[in-house]
Amino acid sequence: MATHKPVLIEEVLQYLHPQPNENFVDCTVGEAGHTLEILKKSQPGGKVLGIDLDEHQVTNSALFTKEFQKRVVLVHNSYANITDILNKKNFKPVHGILLDLGMSSWQLEKSSRGFTFSKNEQLDMRYDIENTLTAHMIVNEYSEKKIENILDEFGEEKFARKIASAIVRARKIKKIESTFELKSIIEHTIGGKSSHGRIHGATKTFQALRIVVNGELDNLKNFLPQAFQILEQGGRLVIISFHSLEDRIVKNFFKEQEKQNLVTLVTKKPVIASAVEMVENPRSRSAKLRAFIKI
Ligand code: SAH
Repeated sequence: MATHKPVLIEEVLQYLHPQPNENFVDCTVGEAGHTLEILKKSQPGGKVLGIDLDEHQVTNSALFTKEFQKRVVLVHNSYANITDILNKKNFKPVHGILLDLGMSSWQLEKSSRGFTFSKNEQLDMRYDIENTLTAHMIVNEYSEKKIENILDEFGEEKFARKIASAIVRARKIKKIESTFELKSIIEHTIGGKSSHGRIHGATKTFQALRIVVNGELDNLKNFLPQAFQILEQGGRLVIISFHSLEDRIVKNFFKEQEKQNLVTLVTKKPVIASAVEMVENPRSRSAKLRAFIKI
């Protein structure tokens, strides 16, 4: 079975509302946690098209959805290309679209790509190993000013300048190869756990690097208008985001669509995980779900 606990699964099913024979797109299929439940609810004829930028996840999800393989189409690509992907696969009509942003458990725990500073790994952070940009390149090759801007813009890190300067000082002595090396530079500059209160001092830097390596905010911005276009009337869009930069983009797009009477917002405020889920699944702690129905 899947090792990945899908975040907010009850809420996703409530707002995506899969019915028998309806079709869905899971834009970040990951370990097929959500997709499996959607497949069960859309029996006997409903299909799911699952997309993932990480080829390994496409293999994972194929394994986990084996018993439903006649109703599953899996694609290694970016959800930012959703219109092209659906056209190529001639996948329509679409009754619901799910986007569960960020990383999966497998990527954090098993991919060895340096997504987390709680493991000592090479600084990589690519979802797609064909991508030419890595966190290693940003940290070792970008100018101090550019690193500062990245930490400021994509990490909202108030110590961006200090950290950028420490990174550049450290790399003059020796290339920064690993997550632990980067973490230690940050700890020596702004402290570890205590400096940001609840989160570790390196959290925002790691978030910023990951966003830039994978072009995450641009992907999201490109995706939103396409998702609206693709949906049938009455179709549902459900998005789970994991930090304020993502949630802001989603919230603003949803509000604009509502103003033009194109959608009904079904989540006035973002839905968050229950206290129980937060204990059981740490990934759910920062999750925010928003959903609309196309008019
Ligand atoms: N909902 C999934 C978990 C998703 S985790 C489950 O329940 O199993 C987020 C996934 O999004 C990761 O597998 C990651 O590789 C993928 N991803 C990140 N950016 C992407 C993009 N631009 N296009 C497609 N997939 C992406």
